[in-house]
Amino acid sequence: MDGLPALSKLRLEAIDRQGSDVRQIAHDHAHPPRASDLAELQQLQKKSGRERDEAQEGRTAQSLSETLRSGARRAGPRVIRGEPHEGYTPISPRVSVTNTQGSGFVKAMSDAGLKPTIVYHNLSPAELYEKALQYEPSSHIVTGGALATISGAKTGRSPRDKRIVREPDSEADVWWGEGSPNYEMDERTFLLNRERAVDYLNQADRLYVCDGYACWDPAVRYRIRVVCGRPFHALFAHNLLIRPSEEELADHFGRPDFTIFNAGVFPANRHTSYMTSSTSVDISFAHREMVILGTQSCGEMKQGVFTLMNYWLPKRGILPLNSGCNVGQQGDVALYFGLSGTGKTTFSTDSERRLVGDDTLGWGETGVFNIEGGCYAKCIGLSKEREPGIHAALRFGAVLENVCFDEESREVDFDASSITENTRAAYPIEHMGNALVPCLAGHPRNAVFLCCDLFGVLPPVSRLSAAQALYYFMSGYTAKVAGTEQGITEPQATFSACYTSTSLVWHPTKYAAMLAAKLEQHGTHVWLVNTGWSAGGYGVGRRISLEHTRAIVAAIHSGELAAAERQTLPLFNLQAPTSCPGVPPELLLPSTTWVDKEAYSQQLVQLAALFVANFKKFEGGSRHMSEEEVRRIVEAGPSL
Ligand code: ATP
Ligand code: MG
Repeated sequence: MDGLPALSKLRLEAIDRQGSDVRQIAHDHAHPPRASDLAELQQLQKKSGRERDEAQEGRTAQSLSETLRSGARRAGPRVIRGEPHEGYTPISPRVSVTNTQGSGFVKAMSDAGLKPTIVYHNLSPAELYEKALQYEPSSHIVTGGALATISGAKTGRSPRDKRIVREPDSEADVWWGEGSPNYEMDERTFLLNRERAVDYLNQADRLYVCDGYACWDPAVRYRIRVVCGRPFHALFAHNLLIRPSEEELADHFGRPDFTIFNAGVFPANRHTSYMTSSTSVDISFAHREMVILGTQSCGEMKQGVFTLMNYWLPKRGILPLNSGCNVGQQGDVALYFGLSGTGKTTFSTDSERRLVGDDTLGWGETGVFNIEGGCYAKCIGLSKEREPGIHAALRFGAVLENVCFDEESREVDFDASSITENTRAAYPIEHMGNALVPCLAGHPRNAVFLCCDLFGVLPPVSRLSAAQALYYFMSGYTAKVAGTEQGITEPQATFSACYTSTSLVWHPTKYAAMLAAKLEQHGTHVWLVNTGWSAGGYGVGRRISLEHTRAIVAAIHSGELAAAERQTLPLFNLQAPTSCPGVPPELLLPSTTWVDKEAYSQQLVQLAALFVANFKKFEGGSRHMSEEEVRRIVEAGPSL
């Protein structure tokens, strides 16, 4: 009977013992059970490939305890790694601690001091899925395998609630004042908020800690620790940070260079100084910490790391950039600068090229590197046909934030904006089939400045001179696309220096001076690409089609656009190519697309005036760039 399937064998045994209850007496000798009860069987389901290193585990627990230690009380949490073997019941010290008055008092002040906090350290995506599904009713697996969840009331970043602590070592470096995204906070308030966040996290039954790196260049990289109460935040951190190997975690991770306390589920105290709402996102360079209260939007953690890089990298001669990057088959590197919604992710994920990064980069001595280990892509209107790479990346391990899906089929509706326009997907960069890992590249041949011109007057593409490149870099013009930040529901024109939005730390001239030197040294061509409106402004015209902008970007890579003839745009003095393969020539000169030519001229003047007014704040120069140097840049901008 050897070789017969188990079922047949069972049946034969049953026939042999005619009449008796076969289910009680039949044995499957081919597959005897290897466990005596269900619990043992479940243990067998989980294979442990790793030898336990108790000394290392002890060091990790110690490090986690230090991270979570209260700044105000002597009592700290007891950290347990992993699931406790026996269920535990938190005991209230108010009931149980009575004998020693002193310690009883200290303990009674804080349940967290007694309560063993379970810390899940660097859980795998599968484990984080399980925790999310177990503890969070808003978490669901959708078709394709991604984890869909919601971020609560805040569905975008809250730039007006972000604070930088004014500290002796960094205050002279930070750009404060008009036009700056840096709103100050004093150290004491930071410590109060930190304490509130740590208290909240310590009283939670379970915490998630994710340790990872920022910056793919091994000579530069920083160790980042995220402590949070929601499994989906830990999965986001796992996806967006560079994932350390087992060996790196065990041997070298050590004390983090920067820690993010994400207590976003818990509100800030509105009566604390500097609070304008129940949201507060605070960064201290001296403490090397970030505190998040009152917002669960994942974008805050990402912006925190990028803000830090915007401060630290220039000190090492590395230029941080809010830019995507990819490499062509000939090894030609391209950068895509731009504010939110202008197309960085869209153009850096080009199936013909290798993806280095879609959002934040460092440009150093040997070339560019990605700061992050993953992508955080907008997914409103995403379709398999138009953006197959991103669509395919939304598989098991990816986090879908605030997307809607069919209740039964769990099919995602990427067009639905019931929760927000700013639906997002976070996935490890390896999910992109064309990712270049490690994410390092040489010096760029082309740099594309993306903007979304809602007035519809800028050409779809212009070639920039060296001075113009600095002018448009420092201006950082675009129209804000709905919903990326709280309270913005319609597009509006905006200027955000260095295309860096709220993460800029030094004065813009610091970054501009570094960019000028790098562009010159490496002979990088710079282009201004308008992915916004044509044939009229917002409400009249329409957005330039993705196909046309893709054709423009392809012609930049191939060198065809550099060779094309150009025409000058009045007032702005921009040099717009008059031909481009795959694009109707009339589209390349905006005035020809407008029916109402008079309205076009008026809009052109209006936009030029906005640029001029915005640039006035830079005219006095700074300690990074003289007044004379700034004057030369101003001359390259629009003149009225
Ligand atoms: P963020 O900084 O928020 O990540 P981003 O610069 O990466 O923003 P994308 O995610 O690429 O921006 O978003 C651009 C969006 O605009 C995409 O949804 C894309 O499909 C849409 N779009 C429509 N027309 C165009 C166009 N002509 N060029 C670029 N993008 C376009
Ligand atoms: Mg993007």
